[in-house]
Amino acid sequence: MINILEICKGAKKIGITGHIRPDGDCVGSVMAMWQFLTKALPGADVEAVLQKPSPVFECIKGVTKILEDVSMEQGEAAMPQRNYDVLIICDSIAERTGMGAHYAKTAGRIVNIDHHISNTGSGEYTYIVPEASSASELVYHVIHEADPEGDYMDAELAKTIYMGIVHDTGVFQYSNTSPQTLCLAAKLVEYGFDFSKLIDETFYEKTYVQNQILGRALLESIRFMDGKCIVSGIDRQTMAFYGATSRDFEGIVNQLRITKGVEVAIFMYETDTLQYKVSLRSKGGVDVSKVAVFFGGGGHVRAAGCNMTGTFHDVVNNLSEQIGLQL
Ligand code: AMP
Ligand code: MN
Ligand code: MN
Repeated sequence: MINILEICKGAKKIGITGHIRPDGDCVGSVMAMWQFLTKALPGADVEAVLQKPSPVFECIKGVTKILEDVSMEQGEAAMPQRNYDVLIICDSIAERTGMGAHYAKTAGRIVNIDHHISNTGSGEYTYIVPEASSASELVYHVIHEADPEGDYMDAELAKTIYMGIVHDTGVFQYSNTSPQTLCLAAKLVEYGFDFSKLIDETFYEKTYVQNQILGRALLESIRFMDGKCIVSGIDRQTMAFYGATSRDFEGIVNQLRITKGVEVAIFMYETDTLQYKVSLRSKGGVDVSKVAVFFGGGGHVRAAGCNMTGTFHDVVNNLSEQIGLQL
């Protein structure tokens, strides 16, 4: 276990980052760490650096103060100089953080808190626990280690950690939900925040367009390998038609996964000509992390992702070959 306050001792500039296209756990873990360090180290300049999260996360304290990642659009030259004394990477390795990877080159100390089984660790201070439900759960333990009396714990911080756990466990449903996860959730709820509203507004609520795209993705889905696999995809033309961005696809692959008889669900969307961001979900029989790692991505046994090149059919063929090795 690491002691984050020991590591941050004497640090003037602290950066906290997570993976590109931040999901609920990424936002939860980064913002929880940001809230804690902002309170615990008032003399330090603490910044959260992330690609702009979905507006649903604006209910989380500090999200509107995030230093937005420009690396995706403008490249390294456009990145402001930040020589962080400490850079904390949550829910990711350095390579998947966009602007964070740039800052990692000049950071004094690098801390990596993650639960991805595929993560071999970035930096000298690592806390990587693949069994953990979420990076947010791990951030709680890191904070607790540094602040055992809970002097800096409050309802906002509890809500932020809880939100991250909710997102990565599918509201305490997926098999990564352990007894410890549930005990922690109970502890967090005691701080008093409207968890019901939080889950509805950040997890379940969909915009009209999101629901339309979900409907379309389900309608156009294809089963293969005797119905053990299901795939659906959205191309750029369709994205443009709906004015959709990557944020609008959250949840589609999970809906595909619960199809009866399906072992592996695949959802992909076109990020560039013949470039796809692929999401993989499994019911447990197939380790989709292995499949994703094969194609340069990563993740967990039941949820993983990667980026692939080719036509929709090329991508499906290449994936099914790897999935077939396990089925
Ligand atoms: P997604 O399908 O994007 O929701 O991701 C599922 C899981 O795999 C999440 O835990 C992601 O953090 C992880 N993941 C997705 N894409 C990648 C990638 N290219 N490299 C490493 N991990 C990934
Ligand atoms: Mn994540
Ligand atoms: Mn996560």
